[in-house]
Amino acid sequence: MFRADLHCHTTSSDGTMSPVEVVQLAKDVGLSGLSITDHDTIDAYATAVPAAKAAGILLGTGVEFSCTFLEKSVHILGYDFRLDDHDIREFCQKHQTRRIERNRVMIEKLKKHGVLIDEKELEELEGSGKTVGRPHIAALMVKKGYVETMKEAFDKYIGDGKSCYERGPAISVPETIEIIHQADGKAFVAHPHLYKGAKWMRMLLELNFDGLECHYAKFSPDQERPWVRKAREKQLLISGGSDFHGDMKAHINLGCSWVDEVTFHRIFQNLP
Ligand code: AMP
Ligand code: ZN
Ligand code: FE
Ligand code: FE
Repeated sequence: MFRADLHCHTTSSDGTMSPVEVVQLAKDVGLSGLSITDHDTIDAYATAVPAAKAAGILLGTGVEFSCTFLEKSVHILGYDFRLDDHDIREFCQKHQTRRIERNRVMIEKLKKHGVLIDEKELEELEGSGKTVGRPHIAALMVKKGYVETMKEAFDKYIGDGKSCYERGPAISVPETIEIIHQADGKAFVAHPHLYKGAKWMRMLLELNFDGLECHYAKFSPDQERPWVRKAREKQLLISGGSDFHGDMKAHINLGCSWVDEVTFHRIFQNLP
């Protein structure tokens, strides 16, 4: 049976498996299709495209952009864009600069709370070209023994709204959708169930999205149903995926959420 997981992360952002390893794992768990959706970068595709061709996996382009809408953080998935598009690459670069500045603000805040993160270690990660964010900072906090688990790091210090959290400069949703569209891609709202506020969601969905991520991680049919209904009502495409991060979220397996062949080809018309 054709199954495609359209949401996963690699070592190019906060996953723990390389792009080639993720493609190989996709093959091993019996997936036919895949999209890698690293945070704010498309670097994984340099090695993932040849690996997918060799493995016989259909690989559609993907990315997960961090944006802000009415003061709230929201993740937007871009699919099926042209990999060689100049503006989408520049946009990823803009995110990297934003993240480096923001990580500095967060480690200063942590310092004030007695949590000392080695700036050299963070710089090394950033210098390796990957997207570095809060999960990396949380992992350093665990390593240094300031907290027992990454969850504790988020709950006590760097989770949304916590004392050491910093969002950094906002990048808007309309700008993000525009960048995806000009690269011939499609823009989807990621994991819509994670956002609180019915009015906020209604306003978000008034923007010109192409689709909604209705199948997610270990969702039950009951959890998916309202979003499938919403997608039909708004004539939006439906996507789905595991949000696999390797050991960074060890309870989520690649392929635990997926879309079928018809849905895959509705989204992806331009495989790299
Ligand atoms: P960033 O993009 O740097 O803001 O980091 C966001 C990532 O951190 C998300 O994609 C999640 O994987 C992870 N994250 C956010 N909040 C939490 C939390 N409360 N517990 C564990 N991980 C979280
Ligand atoms: Zn992540
Ligand atoms: Fe996300
Ligand atoms: Fe994700």
